[in-house]
Amino acid sequence: MTNHFSTQAVHAGEEKRKPYGAITTPIVQTSTFTFENTAEILDFMHRKAASDPQVRDEYGRYSNPTQSAAERKIATLEHGERALLFASGMCAITTTMLALLSSGDHLLMVSDSYHRTRQFALTFLSRWGIETTLVPIDGPAALAAAIRPTTRLILAETPTNPYLRVMDLSWLVDVARPHDITTVIDSTFASPINMRPLEHGIDLVIHSATKYLGGHNDLLAGTVIGSSETMAHIKEARGVMGGIGNPHDAYLLLRGLKTLDVRVRRQNENGQRVAQFLEGHPAIRRVYYPGLPSHPDHDVARRQMSGFGGVVSFEIEGDMDKTGRFIDLLRLPYIGPTLGGVESIIEQPASLFSLDRAERQAAGITDNLVRYALGIEDADDLIADLDQALAGI
Ligand SMILES: *Cc1c(COP(=O)(O)O)cnc(C)c1O
Repeated sequence: MTNHFSTQAVHAGEEKRKPYGAITTPIVQTSTFTFENTAEILDFMHRKAASDPQVRDEYGRYSNPTQSAAERKIATLEHGERALLFASGMCAITTTMLALLSSGDHLLMVSDSYHRTRQFALTFLSRWGIETTLVPIDGPAALAAAIRPTTRLILAETPTNPYLRVMDLSWLVDVARPHDITTVIDSTFASPINMRPLEHGIDLVIHSATKYLGGHNDLLAGTVIGSSETMAHIKEARGVMGGIGNPHDAYLLLRGLKTLDVRVRRQNENGQRVAQFLEGHPAIRRVYYPGLPSHPDHDVARRQMSGFGGVVSFEIEGDMDKTGRFIDLLRLPYIGPTLGGVESIIEQPASLFSLDRAERQAAGITDNLVRYALGIEDADDLIADLDQALAGI
């Protein structure tokens, strides 16, 4: 029997019977785990050598029960065999790349990726002899043409930031499979409620759990989900590099995950309502939202996703200053650079990206662009707020 998402979000991964009869999984705040005697150590060593999944905890850099519960819940929601938690999304990405790539390997990456991921590939991996080619999301031909005999891994993001481009995962898999190339999707913007890349044949899924999975703007975490075999390599790398999260954040993540389904559904609804309102407004030049038929990837998104997410990007009719004034007139959202939490949060990408206009233009960030990451407030209130701010400019 497979439960639905809202049921899995509440129950998956957690032991029904917990210490002291507690209903919540406790924060096991400890650095290490002790042994009763030498026999217990030897039993542990034998189980570990046999890759026994029930093996006990040994030391906090390798695993922790609070964290393991969150990992099991995420693996269930993402329909994967195994998940691992990290101290941040970037830690999940960098540890995964370092675990799977070696000197001489070639990495293919969509150009529209998180800027720190791009920075890691171009300025760190390059120092260890791993070359990266950036490819635009332009269909399978451009991607296939960039493949080399040494291409080991393709890293893509879907939907992307800030233009919400949606890549067709089936053609990504079709291009990669014949060459035995590992496919990795940063699925942060979708969350497992809206898209499950493993079901499309993708090898590994990564999330910044700081965003939708945590959902309350109160923790930093990252996660990678995939087959037990690949995850064992990545776990080894995590144990060496030390990027495991902490038990307290794992607890907050478990707590946040229980409402993932209800939160994301509301955010999908808010995204669609706000995008439709903005598209019809004369003070708006253009709206980017995969749930709108005007979005270039609307058809792919409809096939591949069960919801279009809570992030809406749009361009104001106006310049840098006018866009800033519009944001300052809004009363509900916070101003800042994250997404996925219950509080709506807005930013003008140009103002946070760089003070250099040429650099911004090279990255495709226009001065009048706004990224609005909707929370779980009421859509009518969010729209009324937008309406008064647009009237004010
Ligand atoms: C935020 C984000 C990251 C980085 O995650 P952190 O948890 O901030 O380290 C990576 N990819 C995407 C798409 C993100 O939005």
